[in-house]
Amino acid sequence: MSTKKIQAIRGMNDLLPDQSALWQYVEGQVRLLMQRYGYDEIRTPIVEQTALFARSIGEVTDIVEKEMYTFEDRNGDSLTLRPEGTASCVRAAMEHGLLHNQTRRLWYQGPMFRHERPQKGRYRQFHQVGVETFGLEGPDIDAEVILLSARLWKQLGLFEQVTLELNSLGSSEARAAYRETLVAYFEQHHERLDEDSLRRLTSNPLRILDSKNPDMAGMLADAPRLIDHLDDDSRAHFEQLCALLDAAGIDYVINPRLVRGLDYYGRTVFEWTTTALGSQGTVCAGGRYDGLVEQLGGKPIPAVGFALGIERLILLLETLALVPDSALGRLDLYLLPVDDGATRQTLLLAERLRTALPALRAQLHCGGGSFKSRIKKADRSGARLALLVGEDEVATGKATLKFLRDDRDQLSLDQEALIDTLSDLLVGEGA
Ligand code: ATP
Ligand code: MG
Repeated sequence: MSTKKIQAIRGMNDLLPDQSALWQYVEGQVRLLMQRYGYDEIRTPIVEQTALFARSIGEVTDIVEKEMYTFEDRNGDSLTLRPEGTASCVRAAMEHGLLHNQTRRLWYQGPMFRHERPQKGRYRQFHQVGVETFGLEGPDIDAEVILLSARLWKQLGLFEQVTLELNSLGSSEARAAYRETLVAYFEQHHERLDEDSLRRLTSNPLRILDSKNPDMAGMLADAPRLIDHLDDDSRAHFEQLCALLDAAGIDYVINPRLVRGLDYYGRTVFEWTTTALGSQGTVCAGGRYDGLVEQLGGKPIPAVGFALGIERLILLLETLALVPDSALGRLDLYLLPVDDGATRQTLLLAERLRTALPALRAQLHCGGGSFKSRIKKADRSGARLALLVGEDEVATGKATLKFLRDDRDQLSLDQEALIDTLSDLLVGEGA
């Protein structure tokens, strides 16, 4: 038997204790945001039939061609770990009749899986938060989902650090006509196309616009632009969306080369990008996918949504030093019996404090040890305060509150005064 240690799969990360408070902070802000806009959470399985993704995302996209974790289960069915959330959300909404003559505003969060080359901001298991709305075709809902995402940046103190890029992909007819124009242009510049682009020329020529190859940049900059070939309805839709964003004070950059990697998008597409994360600069991406429900066998119903990558969001908060103290998961108080004789008293006091002060984050010293080692543990706990309970304290009903991080004299307090003092200190912290 091999004794080699088994390690995690490349590109799939453990979330360790020193990071979990930050994740919980971000997740908490997301949940609050969704409540503020009246969006309902939906949770779907992480495994679906492979056909769901092939049919929705598109056979000739990067995701379906080379990134999916697909396997046969014991019945011989082809299953896939979800590479994104929209397809599953649409499947579930259709399956449970959530889309019959009604509008829906849904959100989800959870792990997604793509077999990509792992690097900073790009992993094989990563986490997304997504929003999907159904049954609304006007630019008002496009504006709402963009404003919702903008508010998340504001809640997190990030709004000044991200840029909204916007484009319209028009109707499928306009896209088909444009595709021909574009292919003709690329054929004129055949010698400038790289291998990837030559392959896409017949399968997915719009995606060539998305190429990051610097040798092609000049040729791509001169390519015909879809935004100049929009159908009238899509043009009006786009102009109205821009007007709503202007009215709401949201700046944006129109990027005619923004095409998105998934086939189901039409009309509005957008991305929130940052320059602070190197080449993994897209934090959030979305758009309108009016054709998807029908494509998956339902009655046609308009839809718009987005997904954001939590790892990139967290990297951004860390890179820009925007992690608030409350997201560091620090303890307020470490309670220590000065010796074993005070154990019971301290344990009971800890419980009483937790009952009286529900917001208090308190940890009890367990496991005995010398006085010195107890004090050391109090310090290492990261708590701001330590409460020492000794024999004297047991006799007099008082305990000693020590300030571990501030230059302040310790206080000897009875229980009532202790609760008042802690309560004041906690309020001070929150402010
Ligand atoms: P990219 O161009 O960076 O590959 P994408 O177009 O494949 O992104 P989407 O499918 O639109 O991305 O996913 C939405 C968001 O999810 C991205 O903007 C990004 O923040 C995040 N994301 C996508 N793939 C990964 C990954 N492999 N690791 C971490 N985050 C990811
Ligand atoms: Mg990708």
